[in-house]
Amino acid sequence: MARVVIVGAGFAGYRAAQALHRTLGAEAEIVLINPTDYFLYLPLLPEVAGGVLDPRRLAVSLTATLPGVRLQLGYVDRIDLATRTVHHIDPEGRAGAVTYDRLVVTAGSVNKVLPVPGIADHAHGFRSIPEALYLRDHVIRQVELAASTEDAEERAARLTFVVVGAGYTGTEVAAAGHLLTRSLLRRRPALRDTPVRWLLLDRASRVLPELRPRLSRSAARTLGRRGVEIRTGTSVSEATTGGVRLTDGRFVPTRTVVWTVGVRPEPLVDALGLAAVEGRVRVDEYLRVPGHPDVFACGDVAAVPDLTRPGELTAMTAQHAERQGKAVARNVAASLGHGSERPYRHRDLGLVVDLSGMKAVADPLGVPLTGFAAKVATRGYHLLAMPANRFRILLDWVVDACTRRQAVQLGLVRSPAVRLDTTQPATTPPRSPHAAVGSVAG
Ligand SMILES: Cc1cc2nc3c(=O)[nH]c(=O)nc-3n(C[C@H](O)[C@H](O)[C@H](O)COP(=O)(O)OP(=O)(O)OC[C@H]3O[C@@H](n4cnc5c(N)ncnc54)[C@H](O)[C@@H]3O)c2cc1C
Repeated sequence: MARVVIVGAGFAGYRAAQALHRTLGAEAEIVLINPTDYFLYLPLLPEVAGGVLDPRRLAVSLTATLPGVRLQLGYVDRIDLATRTVHHIDPEGRAGAVTYDRLVVTAGSVNKVLPVPGIADHAHGFRSIPEALYLRDHVIRQVELAASTEDAEERAARLTFVVVGAGYTGTEVAAAGHLLTRSLLRRRPALRDTPVRWLLLDRASRVLPELRPRLSRSAARTLGRRGVEIRTGTSVSEATTGGVRLTDGRFVPTRTVVWTVGVRPEPLVDALGLAAVEGRVRVDEYLRVPGHPDVFACGDVAAVPDLTRPGELTAMTAQHAERQGKAVARNVAASLGHGSERPYRHRDLGLVVDLSGMKAVADPLGVPLTGFAAKVATRGYHLLAMPANRFRILLDWVVDACTRRQAVQLGLVRSPAVRLDTTQPATTPPRSPHAAVGSVAG
């Protein structure tokens, strides 16, 4: 029986495993290697940081939803293309290996750290449950400590939050964080008259540069009315324990820097020694790695030619990753004699950006939406896109709309466990989110 090994159970890997199992059934063994036993629905992560959603809602059980697919918990640290062997390390540090007839690399991306002094030490990224939980706890802690200090400067610094990068992740984090602090302050009479600052910075000339200018302006207006300070054409030139120096020379005292300036492919791809484009594994329109007929790659990790925009690569989005996962399954099955292969072609269906509260901006199918209509479209889209947990998510949204937000620190994730710089060699196991949670004191 042929064995297909899939590395990474994100949008691309999850859909690839699901579609392959449907197509090949018992005729192939499908092994999915992932550090966690869940697929993480990243687009709703800002709602975890904002205290709206329970983190488990975004975690879709792999074993419960992919029966027939063998889950290998672990982190792939090496792939030997000559012997067709994938080497992995399980969450308890034990090494293992599995051979393949077909390999699908869908290991996604990691935070991109730019060489800005102090950023790696003083900023945190935002692309995992531990990072979202850390940020939520950290923000609540800053408000508590601000309420108990007599020092006005310290209080102001604790109540200043800086988000670097105004793409969809940074914009949603700033929106969710701002509403969280606003609800926290309502319950603290000592802080009622103290201003809370959320700064959203980007080198670009507008927030959400992925969207058409009209929607960017609408998002900026919504955030501006709420009090989020948007600084375009500005970034951070240095981060220290006491704050950040902006590229315009000003110093902003703060204890919180969230770094969302972009992503880069998972470092595993560097070790593969395959041809790369902008750091992503080069693949053809069939998602095959040239020169390796048994190896496929897709999602953020792969440089997939965008047939709808000749000469360009597909964007690093969930929308593409999910569809590429289904497409790669078809082509892998075809390479095993089931069905025929087909090139990957998908025209972008637009983006939805949740601005928290009752607001969003979205351009589904090119139709620009703002305000409550966009909110309905955004939440509807996420519910449809979630492979499971929909009812629980809906319940969390209803509960959040009708009750006061619960705001307590659980203290499960400490700062060193969610460090921004994950560029250490792939052989070091702590990059598994399991290792990150609660395992490091500090
Ligand atoms: C906060 C946030 C919000 C977002 N919102 C949107 C949105 O609204 N719309 C949109 O289209 N996109 C959005 N994105 C981008 C989108 O989530 C990514 O483009 C998408 O997740 C890429 O899918 P993927 O399958 O390539 O990688 P991922 O979903 O990142 O999955 C990669 C998987 O591989 C695993 N893995 C990594 N390395 C290894 C290894 N060495 N061995 C084994 N497993 C490994 C990871 O643990 C993970 O499970 C958002 C991203 C973030 C961070």
